[in-house]
Amino acid sequence: MSLRPSLLDPLFAPVSSLPGVGPRIASALDRLLGEHGQTARILDLLFHLPSGAVSRGSLGSVRDAPIGEPVTLAVKVAAHRPSPYARARAPYRVLVEDETGDVTLVFFNLPRVRIEQMLPLGARRLVSGTIELWDGHRQMVHPARIMDERQAAEAPSSEPVYGLTEGVSSRLIGRYVGAALKRVPDLPEWQDTAWRERNGFPAFGEALAAAHRPSEQPQGDDSAPDPARRRLAYDELLATQLALALVRSPMRRSAGRVNAGDGSLVRRIVETLPFPLTGAQRRAVEEIRQDLVAETRMLRLLQGDVGSGKTLVALLAMASAVEAGRQAALVAPTEILARQHAERIAALADPTGLRVAVVTGRDRPAERRRSLAALAAGDIDIAVGTHALMQEEVAFRDLGLAVIDEQHRFGVHQRLTLGRKGEAVDVLVMTATPIPRTLALTSFGDMDISVLDEKPPGRQPIDTRLVSIERIEQVTDAIARALAAGDRVYWVCPLVAESEAVDLAAAEERHAELAEILGPDRVGLVHGRMKGPEKDAAMERFQRGDIQVLVSTTVIEVGVDVSAATVMVIEHAERFGLAQLHQLRGRIGRGDKASTCLLLYKGPLGETAKARLETMRRTENGFEIAEEDLRLRGEGELLGARQSGMAAFKMARLDIDADLLAAARDDARLIVERDCELTSERGRALRLLLYLFDRDAGIRLLRAG
Ligand code: ADP
Ligand code: MG
Repeated sequence: MSLRPSLLDPLFAPVSSLPGVGPRIASALDRLLGEHGQTARILDLLFHLPSGAVSRGSLGSVRDAPIGEPVTLAVKVAAHRPSPYARARAPYRVLVEDETGDVTLVFFNLPRVRIEQMLPLGARRLVSGTIELWDGHRQMVHPARIMDERQAAEAPSSEPVYGLTEGVSSRLIGRYVGAALKRVPDLPEWQDTAWRERNGFPAFGEALAAAHRPSEQPQGDDSAPDPARRRLAYDELLATQLALALVRSPMRRSAGRVNAGDGSLVRRIVETLPFPLTGAQRRAVEEIRQDLVAETRMLRLLQGDVGSGKTLVALLAMASAVEAGRQAALVAPTEILARQHAERIAALADPTGLRVAVVTGRDRPAERRRSLAALAAGDIDIAVGTHALMQEEVAFRDLGLAVIDEQHRFGVHQRLTLGRKGEAVDVLVMTATPIPRTLALTSFGDMDISVLDEKPPGRQPIDTRLVSIERIEQVTDAIARALAAGDRVYWVCPLVAESEAVDLAAAEERHAELAEILGPDRVGLVHGRMKGPEKDAAMERFQRGDIQVLVSTTVIEVGVDVSAATVMVIEHAERFGLAQLHQLRGRIGRGDKASTCLLLYKGPLGETAKARLETMRRTENGFEIAEEDLRLRGEGELLGARQSGMAAFKMARLDIDADLLAAARDDARLIVERDCELTSERGRALRLLLYLFDRDAGIRLLRAG
């Protein structure tokens, strides 16, 4: 059942309904454009904007070709390197060159005969696409276009270049986009007229068409923003902000209750602490308390770098709720984190008589029945658990506060689910991800934010060093010495784009090597393919000190605390995102012993890669790192956006559209204030916008009341 207005149907039709798109191309387009394995829709094709235009004017030499931007090169085919038989899935590579250097063209799953036809040995070709550095060597994966001299002469002086997939050329995509543009219906305007006029924004349909003609726009010139793309960017940001505002509005409007008591429990806990609260912790606790006693519900984000002491703030917030006679729940993203939280919290809470219980998916049935009964009866004050706490069968006697840790692993819906488990439940979301202001807006809308920007005193700074992989023997020597001194070591293996299997193989290989050098009983392995309990068991062995070196893929990223771990080695650090490196490094430096982080890289490094690693060496400040990341890479890569579930934008670019974001937020707020059911003329047009950007969950919420 769909509530979607039929006016939009042509845009939601599958791409296979376009002329010339047969099953083979349709499935290639699904891979390229379909989200979460779904069929690609005409809309997805239209939102797939060209990455630039190729014109023969931009023809350059191999040596000077910029990395990461579309280029056209005049080259000679120098060598063919078919995939070895033993590794059928390895790509077919073709080496091409000009007088200044060479580039490897890389093809996956393309029949050899096709490649030989396109690129005969010794032939001269114009090749368009994007160059990237792979192990210091230039490569171009699936060139956008390959032309011989005759084709080049006939080609238009400029044409759009689209992000590519196996088996569909940029040209073909251009043709399908042309057909798709004809299907765009006449849509009512959802943007405010005055705003649109002030910015010179074209109508939605016109903007789409113009955005697919990059040659008619000034390229790469930030001083002359392109109104068509900016219009679409604003549409996307507005849809996002409006969805957040809608989701939030029923919570705002529903009256809260007083979910904090006289402060006596909080005081007692603080008195038993062996250390004073940091200033930032005190501020956050007070902000939360204000929310808890307020007439409206709390929806607050507690943001603090790893080690800034969020757990304690959460505990004090929960104690406030218990003072008021309510229960509190804390949800962690993984079993092991839930148990770790529970242990810590129990240690602090037990002396004050607070009753704490753990609820996870792995409790034995009898144990679970007992916990659930106790929760329902109100015999438990604080429940700590995994998402198992959000399940239907879990009922509280009187839940007043829900705390969600590391929220980026959950969606808005889960946030709401827990919020519904009681009457007027206040919600506190904790994240260790340092989120620049601009991004906080996109992901959390106008949620209130408390920041722990101060670390507990006495922390030793982490000594971070950049080490070439060629010196790996020195590294293993140093590790052997560290082990002799009783240290514990994380060793993180590279993230390889090609496949999880390759990642795993690399980690296994490293594990075997280190086990041989350091002793088989001392080295453990944990990776993403392991089942939850297996993973937890490996982590626990490391935590207990049964093993002293933990080799892993990036699964240790989640905030597990092993305060004895003082060394972190990250292999191929140049392949990780800055935010990810920061999260990884945050696993050490938790105790009072000095810690060392070794970023192993494989040179030569490009300018950006060098700047990024240098940032890591220079600072431990998560916000600074996040801002730098945003500057160096754009928001798409930031925070590992995809893995963290923060949708990357299709149209908006936060580096250049930050001004639009603030405007969209204000716009959305005003809309929801005036027309929270979206029933006015503009409101109805805005519903269309929400569907177009797949932000219609808010609409379902409206209907559900
Ligand atoms: P986060 O969850 O923000 O990464 P934690 O809550 O795990 O940080 O705290 C990290 C460590 O710091 C814990 O061992 C905790 O006991 C300790 N800690 C918390 N607050 C303080 C403080 N004010 N002074 C000293 N140590 C603190
Ligand atoms: Mg924590």
